[in-house]
Amino acid sequence: MRMFRQIISRGFSSNTSAKQICIIGSGPAGFYFAQHALKAIPNVQVDMYEKLPVPFGLVRYGVAPDHPEVKNVIHTFTKTALNSNFRFIGNVSVGKDIPFSELCKSYHAVVLAYGCSEDCSLGIKGENLKNTLSARCFVGWYNGLPDNKDLEVDLSTESVAILGQGNVAVDVARILLTPIDILKKTDITNYAIEALSKSKIKTVYLVGRRGPLQVAFTIKEFREMTKLPDVKTLFKSEQLNDIESYVSDLPRARKRLTELMLKTHGSEQNGSKIFQPLFYRKPVEILGDSAVTGVKFSVNTIVDHLKGTVASSEQFENLPCGLVLRSIGYKATCPDEGIPFDTENGRIKDCPGVYSSGWINTGPVGVILSTMNNAFKQAALLAEDIATNKLNTSDTRPGYQHIGDILKKKGSVIVNFDGWQKIDKVEVERGEKLGKPREKIVSIEEMLKIGGQVPF
Ligand SMILES: Cc1cc2nc3c(=O)[nH]c(=O)nc-3n(C[C@H](O)[C@H](O)[C@H](O)COP(=O)(O)OP(=O)(O)OC[C@H]3O[C@@H](n4cnc5c(N)ncnc54)[C@H](O)[C@@H]3O)c2cc1C
Repeated sequence: MRMFRQIISRGFSSNTSAKQICIIGSGPAGFYFAQHALKAIPNVQVDMYEKLPVPFGLVRYGVAPDHPEVKNVIHTFTKTALNSNFRFIGNVSVGKDIPFSELCKSYHAVVLAYGCSEDCSLGIKGENLKNTLSARCFVGWYNGLPDNKDLEVDLSTESVAILGQGNVAVDVARILLTPIDILKKTDITNYAIEALSKSKIKTVYLVGRRGPLQVAFTIKEFREMTKLPDVKTLFKSEQLNDIESYVSDLPRARKRLTELMLKTHGSEQNGSKIFQPLFYRKPVEILGDSAVTGVKFSVNTIVDHLKGTVASSEQFENLPCGLVLRSIGYKATCPDEGIPFDTENGRIKDCPGVYSSGWINTGPVGVILSTMNNAFKQAALLAEDIATNKLNTSDTRPGYQHIGDILKKKGSVIVNFDGWQKIDKVEVERGEKLGKPREKIVSIEEMLKIGGQVPF
């Protein structure tokens, strides 16, 4: 408290009466929260801390490179970033570069929007064998996430098993099977293009524990697979035959997806490569001595098609493959022990002055649109708490003036939004030379050289 008074008496902020809000994380949850807070809260300053030098979270590092239209949300985020009451502070990892407790002292409200950046593991034998990777890291690799740029991926095998049947699993399958000339025109990293152009992959299996009525991928993503040049989408007849009688009872979206699967199965297709969803298979072991040679599955039997209940059988089956990608979901971690994080359910506990938005609030489910709805709802909650004095904002808080001071003393280098725009410009220029929208910079050092600065 004494330190706090000292800071205030030094008269740091140019707008000392502003309500000081900080957001941790610059993905959709952070930006949509900021957008709503700037609109709904009078006289507010919103500061966003991001651990990477560059903004936009999974929009930059998750969304598939061949889905550029999804990334258009970046235009909306940029508009928010250019608001004079908004500040982006990149290359600051909360928990590592700045403790959560300092943010709580410096701001009236702290918003946790740092997403879910870990992947779930299967907990089975062989999971650490070479070429058994998480889809999360593989996605990070082709999208140029600095942490994953050196991932060792061997694409010299003919068969790949992707474990999981959600949209991320389909994204990964599509990237592995899309003709290289199409990928070359996207913002996929050049090193990934080089590796994928030498790929020997012919068959990609998408394996799930339950049945065709329980797949988590959506119709748009599945339809895209059926339209990939030179790729046949195949099913095992015995896994689809008995679902036809359930189609009329299904909810609309599930019905349309199932009908498309059945139609695809019945249609004539050409192509030298195969995409094959496989059902009722629970992985029990990744096979191989040093590198993966296959996956052992326990064969499930269906108990109830509509409920999706399955039972394990005594039967096992081996699927030969030289690459395994685990795509069974994401989970949250806690970057700072001061954060009121409930390890039981991976969410933020109710705590005065602390708000959460996006995946860290809902769990790692949902698309950008649902993340936006959640962020708007959470920001409205903060606005209401301020308006009704449930959250006291009558005292003066120093906000970034104090945090910037700490970072400066530590010798940190930060990237503000101008800095990001410099990085962006270089990426776009490099991309133009290669006939693609951008060539991402994957070295943090290089990003900082272009856009970094001493905290002010
Ligand atoms: C592979 C993949 C593909 C997807 N494709 C689509 C798609 O095509 N369409 C669609 O609508 N949705 C898609 N989604 C879903 C969408 O990305 C999410 O709904 C959304 O990104 C969640 O937003 P978020 O802000 O909660 O998390 P994130 O986007 O993960 O943002 C969290 C941010 O917090 C930062 N951060 C983490 N820890 C710290 C820390 N300690 N200090 C400071 N900053 C920190 C991270 O670096 C990151 O920038 C996809 C998701 C994945 C995983």
